[in-house]
This record gives sequence, C-alpha cells and structure tokens, in this order.
Amino acid sequence: MSVQKGGLPGVKGCIEHFGAMWEVIKDARLNRRDLSVVWLDLANAYGAVPHVLILKALRYYNIPDKIIKIIVVYFAGVYGRFSSKLVTSKWQKFEIGIFMGCVISVIIFVLCMNLSDEYLKVKVPRAIQYLKDTTPVPVLKLFMDDSCLTASKAVDMQEILKVVNEFMDWSRFKLKSSKSRALVFDKGKVVEWEVDGQRGDGDLLKLTLSGKVIPNVSEKPIKFLGRWIRAEATDKEVIEQARGDLYQFLERLDGSSLSGIQKCWGYQYLVLPKMKWILAIYDIPASTVLKWEQRVNRFLRSWLGAGHTLSKICLFSRDSPVALPIDSLVDTWKVEKCRLQQSYKYSPDDFIRSVAPKVRSGRVWNAEEVLEEAERDLVCESMLGMVQPGKRAGIGFGEWKKPWEKMNTEERKKAAIERVQENLNKERVVEYGSLELQSGWARWREDVLALDLSWNSLFKMGDSMVGFILRAVYGTLVTPSLAVKWDEAEDGMCKLCRTERGTLQHILSGCKVALEQGRYTWRHDKVLNQIQSQVAYHLDKRVNNPKRSVSLQSSTIGFVSAGAKVKGPPKCQNRSGMGILTEARDWVLLADVNGKLKFPSEVTTTRLRPDLIIYSTSTKRIVWWELTCPSEERISAAHELKLDRYSGLQVECQENGWSCYNMAVEVGARGVVAESLIKAAAAIGMRGRARKKLVRDVGMEACHCSKWLYWLCGKKEWERRDIEM
Ligand SMILES: [Zn+2]
Repeated sequence: MSVQKGGLPGVKGCIEHFGAMWEVIKDARLNRRDLSVVWLDLANAYGAVPHVLILKALRYYNIPDKIIKIIVVYFAGVYGRFSSKLVTSKWQKFEIGIFMGCVISVIIFVLCMNLSDEYLKVKVPRAIQYLKDTTPVPVLKLFMDDSCLTASKAVDMQEILKVVNEFMDWSRFKLKSSKSRALVFDKGKVVEWEVDGQRGDGDLLKLTLSGKVIPNVSEKPIKFLGRWIRAEATDKEVIEQARGDLYQFLERLDGSSLSGIQKCWGYQYLVLPKMKWILAIYDIPASTVLKWEQRVNRFLRSWLGAGHTLSKICLFSRDSPVALPIDSLVDTWKVEKCRLQQSYKYSPDDFIRSVAPKVRSGRVWNAEEVLEEAERDLVCESMLGMVQPGKRAGIGFGEWKKPWEKMNTEERKKAAIERVQENLNKERVVEYGSLELQSGWARWREDVLALDLSWNSLFKMGDSMVGFILRAVYGTLVTPSLAVKWDEAEDGMCKLCRTERGTLQHILSGCKVALEQGRYTWRHDKVLNQIQSQVAYHLDKRVNNPKRSVSLQSSTIGFVSAGAKVKGPPKCQNRSGMGILTEARDWVLLADVNGKLKFPSEVTTTRLRPDLIIYSTSTKRIVWWELTCPSEERISAAHELKLDRYSGLQVECQENGWSCYNMAVEVGARGVVAESLIKAAAAIGMRGRARKKLVRDVGMEACHCSKWLYWLCGKKEWERRDIEM
C-alpha cells in the first residue's frame, strides 16, 4: 500500500526533517563526534493499532467523555470483508487497526504514536541527547509510522531501545528489528557490524532490539522519508545511481519509435519530474548537473532537429520568437535548491531553524546567495514602486504586483522563486552577445510576434517543420555560406545567381534569379490565399451578417429640444463592433491572386493593385492590405516602403470622397508574423481565436513555402507543379 508512507515525496515538512537529520549526521562525521541513530520499523503500523490503545490515548489527552463515546461506537462498528476472484468472506468485526482514508484515523494514529514520545520523556534522561552546536537533538522523532531515535553514545542508545521496546510491548505494537537500521559514529568513525557476520565481535557493542541485532546502515543502507542514507554520510552512490537512471531514461526515449517532439515531451513531463526530487534533496554539485545537462541537451537537439551546434542559451531561451516549452536541467536544479533553502529558512520548527541545514551545491553556485539576491531585488522593487515592463508600454500598463512588505510568507516564497527564475533568464540574455550567428533574431525580435510553440502546436507542426523553424531562426541551417567553412568543394555562393553569397537571408528573400523565376511570388500568393480565405470568412459570417446590428449614429444627428439632455453615444461600441467595418454590411473583398485584381472603378482609376481590398459603397470606405514576405531582418523597412508606395493612391481616393485605410502587413519568410498583421486584423474587427488562427496559419504557410524554397535552392529550374500540393 502506497499510503503507508509517512511522508510522501514533496510533502512539506518531510524535506526539512530529513534535511535536519542529514545535517546532524554530517556534523558528527565531519567534526569527529559520537552519534547513534536508530530508524525503527513498525510492522503493519496502521493495521496494528489496538482499539484498546486508542481508548487509552484519548483518555490520556483528556478528550471529553462524550467524544470518546462517539469514537468508541464508531470503532466498535467497524466491519469488513475480503474478496478474491472466486470467494468473498463473511463480514468480520475488526478489533485492531484503523483505516486509511478516514479523516479521524490519521489523527488517532498520531495520537497513539505520540504516547511513545510521552513515555520516553519520562524514562530517558536529557543528558544523553546529541548536541549539534548548542541545539539538543530530540531523542525521538516521529513522522507518522517512520520513527527515528537519536542519542550521543551507543550505550545510551541501547538503554533507549530497551525503553522503547517496553512501550511497544505494552501498547501491543510490533517492531521489526530486521527492517530497522542503526548508524553509530565513534568519534566520527562509522562503527560497522554485520547481523550474522563474525566481524567486529568481541567488545564491540551491537545495538539490539528485543535480543535481535539491528542491521547496520553500512551493511544495508536505509531510505528514510524518501531519502537514502548511507554510512559514509555522502551521496556519492545515490548520485551515481541517479546519473545511470537519467541516462537510461534518455536512451530509452531515444530508442523508442516516438516522434522527436514526443520525445521532448517525454523529457519534460516524464524524466524531469522524476529528477526534480533527486536534484532537490541530494548534495549534487553544480559541475555534475552541468555534465548531465550536456548529455540531455545532446538528445534534445537531435530530437528537435535543431542542429548539433545550437547553443543551450537558445535552446532554453524564454524571450526568443521561437521559445520552446522545455526546461533546462541546470535551471531546474537551481530552482529546486532555492526551494529547499526556503523550506529550511522559513520552517516553523524551532529545531530545524536552529540546526540550520545547509543546501550543498558545490562551490560555483550558492542557493543561499541567489535566494537572498532575489529577495533583495523584490524589496528594492517595492521601494521604487511600479516599473514599466516594456519600452513601448504606457504608464500603468502591465500587471500590478503586490509589494513585498504587504505579502505574507507564502506569497513571499512564491515571489522569490519566480524572481530566481526570472534572474536565470536574464543571465541568459546577457550571453546572447557571445553568440554572433545564433542571436541574429535579437535584432528583429521587437517587430514580430512570438510564435506559439505550446506543446499542442508543436505536435500539430510536426518534427520537420519545428526543426526547420528552429534552424532558420537560430541560423543553424546549412547554407552554402555556412558549408564553405568545412566543405572544400563549396564556394559559398548562391547556386541560382552565382553572384552573391548564399546566406539564408539571400536564399529566402534576396535572390534576383529566384524572384524572376517566381519563387517568391509563389510563396507570396500562397500566404495571400490563406489570408484571403480567413478574411472572407470573417466578412461573410460576422461583418456582413444581416443579424448584426449596424449603428449609424455617426451619420444622423438627432434633434435635441431645449432643456433636454443630449444622449451620449451607445457604450461598448468597440467591443461588439467590427472596427472600421462596423458601420456597413455591404463589404466586398477583392484579392490580387494570380494578378487578376482590378481596382474598384467607383473609387478611382489606377494601375496599382494592392493585395487585398475591402470596400463598402454605402459608406464610401475602402481598406487595403499590402502583403510582403520579407526576411525578418527587413520587416520594418518593408513596412515603410509599402505604405509609401500606396500613399499617392490614398490621397486620390480621399479626393474622390472615400475614407481610405492604407495598411501594410508582413509575414516573415521564416514563418514569424510581424506585429503589423495583428494590428491590421484588429482594425477590421478580427479578435480572439479568429485572429490567433489567422496568425498561426499564415505563419505556418510562409514557413512551409520557405522550407521548399530552401530545399530547392540548389535546383536551377523552377516548376510550380513540382511542389504544388
Ligand atoms: Zn542568388
């Protein structure tokens, strides 16, 4: 039964207690002192609580008679029956044992166990306690059915064991000596013995429980509250074991027939959570975790298809346009260590705070310092008041943060951990500078929207698309200009024009020959098609919907009689409205696919052909979008250029009495959509899921086409039917 564990891994309180125990053991070992610890094992603890004992415990703690009666009646009526596949027994009355899953049983169990503490307090003198510095370590520590005895000298421990045994006999609990463990230090040296062995016989004192020798930890290590404890008082072997487990997990994932993205998911949700506990509680130095992480990252890179040279700074970047939902092993370790430090620091238990267990993480990185720094940051911030989160944000923009001095302890702990994570990300940002090739995206990050790389959309995109995007954004895609570094037969030039260097930017949007052949036009038209179909749907279903109310308050002016109040414009117009399309339902959509567009003659006559035109004759209003698929580096330049190109036309339309909206939208060649698209979509009333879908699908279309442009960049001929799918 798994519920028989007194402390489940991760349950608060548990961590602090073995942390303190571990500190005491380390103290004895390093400072050459005497210490004996015995971990006791209760046989079938919950099932072995006699009901008579429950009664005694309740009386001892002065529970009112009325309540005792209720409990007695409750336990007197406990029946149960057992069934196997074939037979079911008759109902049996229970006279022993309590039931897990019942609220009062847990309380009663603790009550009964507590009696043993009361008994020891009376029988055992205080002088035999082990002192950590000046803090006495309690003789008995209880955690549900896990109990642990501590004393300084082994001789005294033997006495305590005798007393404990007396109590257990009286209370009719059963102790299992074979499952209990003892650890004895004599001036910091482990006293070893074997249960049946000849070694150490003679004048050596073996600790015994009702006549039977208790196994020594040096012979059989013990797992106490989910933590392995060994006689050497180091975690070397556990760490070695954990390393083996981690590598085995990764190998198994790698060898499975899952897709690359699924393997990454497996790492994030199966491997990492398993490692968290180990990373938190054992004394693993930074250098070791770093080594493990390098191994992990090797797998992640190959599963993602991101290129083996991709830096881990990019792999775990949180602010790149293609931020992945994957956590780094080292960062996880750091955060877990800070959490551990917190639980020691803020423990409500006096004993733990005075023992002050240390978080051991090697010499390079110190959890205590990092946590203090994060807390200092938060204190400073609350003194300064609110800081603008973004460059372009107005005053008061962003989430309001509760100031430090108004938080309670729990909120402070949470805020500090979040701050630690934030600071880790900031450290990474500083390092972008060191990566010339892979940090090109930092220059155009502000012009674009981050790609939605949630697990859901990663699975939808599939391995090859994800790999292409990551390589394209981080510059790890093999292009002639890169291959020239290792391939002697490569001249580094573009295979189409032969005059310019074959960089990714050139291949995806800068080659004259490719432009003449219509490669870029093909991508442009495919993206435009995607935009057109979604905007058409939007006009059809929402804007031109006859059920939609059209407010014409701007065109008519109501008569206001003297003394009457002027009615204000109806509120919430913008929320239910369709932006600049709100006031009409006769919108017509034209798209310049295959060069067939003719500019509406009722507006003006021109030879210019914007990519997408929406107009309404009733309100004399016209909107056009000009689409470009530039390389991301040129997004803002392309935007200005296109606006400029149609500004003359805009003036012409306005002279003819039309209100005119000239908009330019850009979809980056790597599939990263510019902010201009979302603004343009908002202007015509596309919101929420519709807009999200537009951004996602349009980006994917561009990326998909660019993938083909890249694959075919070495092929001189361009035939559209080859790749039309
Ligand atoms: Zn070229």
